[in-house]
Amino acid sequence: MIAAMAAPPSRYRCSACGNLTRFDVTVTRRVKEFHHFSVGGELEVESAEVLAEDVEEVACRWCGATGEAIEVLSGDAVTDAVTDRADAAGGV
Ligand SMILES: [Zn+2]
Repeated sequence: MIAAMAAPPSRYRCSACGNLTRFDVTVTRRVKEFHHFSVGGELEVESAEVLAEDVEEVACRWCGATGEAIEVLSGDAVTDAVTDRADAAGGV
């Protein structure tokens, strides 16, 4: 289980088709993880700290647009626009 992320995830909007919810995100992430092994060798990742993150490409799943067509939104900007947030947040 990944318990911690360094920053809230970016939200995207496809200016070509209006998609707000489905994107292929290619990201390079440098992560420090706490690996806790049981005596039997079973691994549980108890925490993860993102040391560096580089989003290389965001592509719309609906129309395939990339680059300039994809807007990066701040958290405040999408609060009103996004209606299915409850699913992603697990109802919290
Ligand atoms: Zn699109």
